[in-house]
Amino acid sequence: MSKILLSGGSGFLGSHLTDRLLQDGHEVTVLDNLLTGRRINLQHLAEHPRFQFLERDVSLDLSDLYDGGWDAVMHLASPASPVDYVRYSIETLRVGSHGTENMLEVARHSGARFFLSSTSEVYGDPEIHPQVESYVGHVSSIGTRACYDEAKRFAEAITYTYHRKWDIPVRVVRIFNTYGPRNRTDDGRVVPNFIMQALRNEPITIFGDGSQTRSFCYVADQVEGIVRLLWSDYNDPVNIGNPHEMTVREFAELIIDLTESKSTLTYMPLPHKDDPKRRCPDISRARQVLGWSPRYSPREGFAETIAYYRRYLG
Ligand code: UDP
Repeated sequence: MSKILLSGGSGFLGSHLTDRLLQDGHEVTVLDNLLTGRRINLQHLAEHPRFQFLERDVSLDLSDLYDGGWDAVMHLASPASPVDYVRYSIETLRVGSHGTENMLEVARHSGARFFLSSTSEVYGDPEIHPQVESYVGHVSSIGTRACYDEAKRFAEAITYTYHRKWDIPVRVVRIFNTYGPRNRTDDGRVVPNFIMQALRNEPITIFGDGSQTRSFCYVADQVEGIVRLLWSDYNDPVNIGNPHEMTVREFAELIIDLTESKSTLTYMPLPHKDDPKRRCPDISRARQVLGWSPRYSPREGFAETIAYYRRYLG
């Protein structure tokens, strides 16, 4: 059994990861300020003997946690959808910078391994395709997505600085678009937006001409990749995502098909000038180092997710 400190555990991905770590027999303490996370995501764990929740902002001092005897310190806290991180842009910059430093300090003082959830956004609007971990990115430092992209790039930079300076074991996952149950219906991301619109037979809002691509990973696959990386001895960044790439328009049509919706497509201006035109992970490294590859096909993963949103509506 390991003792794990995890920031952002009330969020969509963080709560699934918390469930999994507890199932695996570990002790988990979640830190979350509930800015974009939700209490309900962890409500079922309230009485769990190996679970603890602390309502804390990790961008503020965490020195009282230095002697917690942690084996692993995992930093997932951050607004993560474009709508959320534009609304909470200063908080996003803070949690990526101060928050990462504070969590690294906890890891350094307790001799724990440090895990950072990074993102495919560190590649920006990529010029190479699919994206490999060695690609250094094409990112605007002044655009509307910069508060998230640059905060995560800083987070990676300080993580590897700590690794070199203090020899801290680090695990860095670059997460590509991940979806599934518990993803808030109002976080503005394309998956909850399209599914909710389809279930309500409302127009599906395609931003731009819908030719931009994304590659969607089901949350159970993402969690499996994260857990394998956490317990590996691999310090370099690893992409975790599903390389099944589709255009946003194809995705809209798939959702209409799976929900048997009467929705039509409606086209709206792109909210971000630097909205990535193509995104698809090269997962050779994850396959090689972790023996990981996604198990859920898009149809299976979306069917599970649609069922969840149907229950939510019901
Ligand atoms: N998108 C869209 N309609 C929506 C929400 C998003 O067409 O209602 C597009 C968005 O412009 C982007 C893609 O879908 O090209 C994925 O957006 P999301 O907000 O899920 O996350 P991103 O991958 O851009 O971080």
